[in-house]
Amino acid sequence: MTDQSKCGVVAVIGAPNAGKSTLVNQLVGQKVAITSPKAQTTRARLLGVALHGDTQIVLADTPGIFAPRRRLDRAMVNAAWEGTNSADAILLMVDPIKQRRHELEPLLEKLKDRPERKLLAINKVDKAVKEPMLALAQELDEKGDFAEIFFVSALTGDGVPELKDHLAALMPDGPWLYPEDQVSDASERLLAAEVTREQLYLQLRDELPYDAAVRHEAYTERPDGSVEIRQQIVVERDGQKAIVLGKGGSQIKAIGEAARKELSDILGRKVHLFLHVKAEEGWEEKREFYEDLGLDWVQ
Ligand code: GDP
Ligand code: MG
Repeated sequence: MTDQSKCGVVAVIGAPNAGKSTLVNQLVGQKVAITSPKAQTTRARLLGVALHGDTQIVLADTPGIFAPRRRLDRAMVNAAWEGTNSADAILLMVDPIKQRRHELEPLLEKLKDRPERKLLAINKVDKAVKEPMLALAQELDEKGDFAEIFFVSALTGDGVPELKDHLAALMPDGPWLYPEDQVSDASERLLAAEVTREQLYLQLRDELPYDAAVRHEAYTERPDGSVEIRQQIVVERDGQKAIVLGKGGSQIKAIGEAARKELSDILGRKVHLFLHVKAEEGWEEKREFYEDLGLDWVQ
């Protein structure tokens, strides 16, 4: 870090599945947030830290903003708007294919009154058809008063370097908020639990009718340099427990194997992962679960 150091916060908002977490990972240059085709994968606000020369860009990855019904939904929406407070810029991400208008429109409405600099990123250019995408950009620009519009693919990285250059240039002078080697504000234990939850979503998809949670239990360093992680998968009912376990335990074995590999990559060391499943009715109504996730308990 030099005397010219710059640092600021960019809040990344958008409807569920727009690709916010994928973009944050792409900007940081490594995985800090889990992603999946399932809406509302991101539950709590998470900060990813990207570097660009002398500039540190702190990215607030937020849960998708949607109409809240359950207590968990309400807590997630609160966390999303909280992520935009004190940001130097707000980046709205839109999936041009599945626009989720019912969730996008109220968001545009709310953004109108925000004093922050607003940027629009039309994502998934690797899949979208050009003409309607350009028409959408124009329409949103009229509604949203955006300072700039970017066309990106968070997945392939197309257009992301240009976006990153631009974000870096917007950041104010000031000391870095995080040390050079820190990529997120999440602890290793939280990230580990998130990686397992991502595998649950990726491997079970719609077979898991209700959301599941992954609870951290233990994180032990072994003398040989490897780490032993114990987690509990919490579902609502015994029937769901059977789904997670699979025939003869084959499903949980596959989930554990994939999560373990991913974690070894992220942590750069050998990981021993122990999972067990518990059916616990009403886990979503328990306060401690929210505290674990860093979400506020809302009535
Ligand atoms: P979030 O809910 O906004 O955080 O969205 P995610 O980052 O979890 O992404 C939702 C889904 O869209 C995942 O399956 C991603 O792989 C996918 N996705 C994200 N960005 C792109 C993209 O640029 N192109 C394509 N084809 N898929 C993407
Ligand atoms: Mg997300």
